[in-house]
Amino acid sequence: MSTEEEKAQIAGEEEVTIFDKIVAKEIPADVIYEDDLALAFRDINATAKVHFLVIPKDRQGLTGISKSEEKHKELLGHLMITAAKVAEQENLSDGYRIVINEGKFGCQSVYHLHIHVIGGEQLGWPPT
Ligand code: 5GP
Repeated sequence: MSTEEEKAQIAGEEEVTIFDKIVAKEIPADVIYEDDLALAFRDINATAKVHFLVIPKDRQGLTGISKSEEKHKELLGHLMITAAKVAEQENLSDGYRIVINEGKFGCQSVYHLHIHVIGGEQLGWPPT
């Protein structure tokens, strides 16, 4: 099993990502929130007691945050609001962290925009 750093070295844009397959219910995931635009599900490799991802169902060209344009404003706002809403649903009232990894150096391994929400315990800072 390779590390996230190793995966990020070889990852790149794909026509259909693993997250598209989760949206299409072709592969299982522990979905904790869903609406017309967004899906939230638990990360398969949690880095804290609570770790879930918020993704756009249709990535609309957003392979990563670096591809964001004015036309994505509403979708990006919705994803952030969804992250906060699901964090509340997950009882993260003592705080949490939101992370978006971008590109190889940012350790991105899936090229379908996603927001990590991490919490449920005391987190350290700075991240390495
Ligand atoms: P990235 O490194 O691209 O920011 O994050 C991708 C995340 O997706 C990783 O934390 C990884 O554990 C998670 N992940 C990758 N494949 C799957 C999967 O099939 N199911 C779920 N639930 N999470 C996944």
